[in-house]
Amino acid sequence: MAKRYLGQNFLYDPSILRRIIQVAQLNREDVVVEIGPGSGRLTMMLAEEVRKVIAIELDKRLFEESKAELADYENVEFIHGDALKYPYESLPEFKVVANIPYYITTPIIFRLLKVRKNLRSMTLTVQKEVAERIVAVPGGRDYGVLSLMVQYYAEPGLKFIISRRAFRPMPGVDSAVLHIKILRSPSVSVKDEEFFFKIVKTAFSQRRKMLSNSLKSLREDIKDRLIQAGIDPNRRPETLGIEEFARLSDIL
Ligand code: SAM
Repeated sequence: MAKRYLGQNFLYDPSILRRIIQVAQLNREDVVVEIGPGSGRLTMMLAEEVRKVIAIELDKRLFEESKAELADYENVEFIHGDALKYPYESLPEFKVVANIPYYITTPIIFRLLKVRKNLRSMTLTVQKEVAERIVAVPGGRDYGVLSLMVQYYAEPGLKFIISRRAFRPMPGVDSAVLHIKILRSPSVSVKDEEFFFKIVKTAFSQRRKMLSNSLKSLREDIKDRLIQAGIDPNRRPETLGIEEFARLSDIL
């Protein structure tokens, strides 16, 4: 029985698994971390392509079953544990390929972005709506904190959609495969990263409001500062590009 609380929706179709691996652009020298190998189908295909696979599974039964199933694969290391707590900092250069359990999607992406020093890319199967938010550009309702956080550190691309019907058990939503290439340096330069993200979060905490109102708590003279940054104070946060947020953050 699949444990829904662990986000256990399994993919069986080998052609979909192959497409995921193609998106990941792997080579023989790669070390790949797979989060949630489940019964190990994708793990096995990854092991054929790369130098090493580190597969982290929280479910004890699945961990034991897949470990036994793939016992002949010497380049696969199975770890029983929580992928949110794994010490990624200790790894050499690595890539992540995973069909992510829905309930940890944003925490795991933020965790990996935080420990990105040796991380080259993430190929993630996530809920379609989350993928759309990650790749969103200014102007639409999908654009927000998640888009800016990821696009600051990385270059995300939505590669293909997987119908909910491809999963067992079938979830309530469709999925999408994202390729997130980690940038060597952030996409915009800011004087104070923490403050930059504070502005982004404050602005989007009241996304229907004009910036002159939503950012008032940060500075009394926010209207003048917005004008100084060349940004109309009547604009709403979802219309601002990442460069504009960066400029505003440096001026403030
Ligand atoms: N890779 C398999 C596939 O594509 O069919 C399974 C994917 S399933 C969506 C997610 C897997 O992540 C499950 O095997 C689940 O037990 C495991 N999992 C859930 N929470 C986890 C966590 N915090 N750390 C590691 N694995 C987790």
